[in-house]
Amino acid sequence: MATKRIGVLGLQGDFREHIEKLQSLGVETRDVRRVTDLEGLDALILPGGESTAVAILERSEAGFEAGVGRPDTIFDSIRKLGEEGLPIWGTCMGSILLAKDIEGSKQGRLGLMDISIRRNAFGPQRFSAETELHIPAIGEEPFRGVFIRAPLITKAGKDVEVLGEIVQGVVMAREKNLLATVFHPEVVDDTRVHEYFLKMIESKKK
Ligand code: GLN
Repeated sequence: MATKRIGVLGLQGDFREHIEKLQSLGVETRDVRRVTDLEGLDALILPGGESTAVAILERSEAGFEAGVGRPDTIFDSIRKLGEEGLPIWGTCMGSILLAKDIEGSKQGRLGLMDISIRRNAFGPQRFSAETELHIPAIGEEPFRGVFIRAPLITKAGKDVEVLGEIVQGVVMAREKNLLATVFHPEVVDDTRVHEYFLKMIESKKK
């Protein structure tokens, strides 16, 4: 199996946890902060964080000076790669950035995935919780879902495959090369969701 190189958007948020998890699985990683960091990647992860902050940073003067802002923004480049089939996985904030529709918000986004998302869907800003999730695509054993000011997927288009659900809504979904989880697989010991993403990359390479 050829070595995969996976980028993790490192503008803000818990990108380090993803990088460590990928390294533990023997994957080559890259912290992506500017457009040129996207070259030659096999896949990209958008970590958890604060979606409004990342959207502003991406468009800001500071971002421009760092090579990530206007005129060719890093979101524009990622959007193009996603449309061309690059596997992209968004966790929590990342799932918000992937969504075409963010309920009641005009904030910046990639808008690649045919889902509606509700930010902070579990109430107050600081609310966090853990719950066992049933995700048949990664095996029968439950996966410990860590929710940190988590969103929920409230609508999924016809080409979107729902991979995990709780009573309140959808927590994991896939649309072709795009994967969204509203919880944080990078903070638990279980590597099955990361391995699922690696398989998505493999099947795309064939
Ligand atoms: N509440 C954050 C947002 O709306 C997401 C939280 C997270 O990524 N842990 O961007």
